[in-house]
Amino acid sequence: MKALVYRALGVAELTDLPVPTPGPGEVLLRVDAAGICRTDLEILAGNYSAIFPVVPGHEFAGTVVDLGAGVDPSWRNRQVAVDPLITCGHCRWCRAGRPNLCADFQAYGSERDGGLAEYVAVRTENLVNAEDLAPEVAALAEPLACAENGAARAGVGPADDVLIAGAGPIGLLMLTAFGVRGARVTVAEPQAQRRERAHRFGAAESFASVPEAVAARDGAGFDLVADVSGRPDVVQQCLGAIRKGGRLLLFGVCPPGSAVQLDPHDVYARELTVLGSFSVNGTLPAAVASLRDTTAPVAELITHRLPLDALPGAFDLVGAPDSLKVQLAPH
Ligand SMILES: [Zn+2]
Ligand SMILES: [Zn+2]
Repeated sequence: MKALVYRALGVAELTDLPVPTPGPGEVLLRVDAAGICRTDLEILAGNYSAIFPVVPGHEFAGTVVDLGAGVDPSWRNRQVAVDPLITCGHCRWCRAGRPNLCADFQAYGSERDGGLAEYVAVRTENLVNAEDLAPEVAALAEPLACAENGAARAGVGPADDVLIAGAGPIGLLMLTAFGVRGARVTVAEPQAQRRERAHRFGAAESFASVPEAVAARDGAGFDLVADVSGRPDVVQQCLGAIRKGGRLLLFGVCPPGSAVQLDPHDVYARELTVLGSFSVNGTLPAAVASLRDTTAPVAELITHRLPLDALPGAFDLVGAPDSLKVQLAPH
């Protein structure tokens, strides 16, 4: 089969590999759609844990075409989305229902071979039935599940008046997850085209920046401010946009070691909450449900659908001005 392989830091090549044999408790998936994520670039650059050589790709959906020993035969021929996390199940975080913080955290696409290939072997416990979704939409379940984790961390509900800072692909997924929970969402995003798209995804209002969003309501802030920009200067602005009793959700990936100024008196006196949200946390089923239930035009997120032969060059499209989700269609 064709697969992208990370041989070593900075060395990615499309190559031929044997089709994997599913082990006990595993299935063989024919990959129907696989997204490229900024994390895949970070893994190649050495900024994220991984064991080389590895087939990258943690955002994929496929069809079960073969079963390992002991697997329920009803999985055969099913279309599934995949939770990429492989966790120990017995450390203090796993026991507390926070497997994304597992002491022995591994994932498909970083420590185990992932989805940027024609086939991949996956444990049945990582499969989520996604039969009624188009495969390219099912492959959005993993990035949406990250936003679902953020929504769960922040306890987003219909009473929430939310500001999302950033309306790129991740901002739109967050808008989708928050919208399904009934929150009223305002977006702060410098690019007019992205603001326009955010309205199609359900944003009630949009502004070019966080300070403009706050000024438009005479300085009154929001119940929840979610940063997806990953920029410390924007996070600083977000801190000034939280209403009394409100919370800040840090979802965008700021550079390690970056800093913002926090007034502890302000956090104390106005009872503010600062939350982080990392990866998925058993939230794949919620994401698949949201993909079914949302009125947001989620398929618009997929701006590129390319054959595997486009790898690794297609990595250059990630973050390009006219691209949102770049996906591979291996078959
Ligand atoms: Zn990702
Ligand atoms: Zn664990």
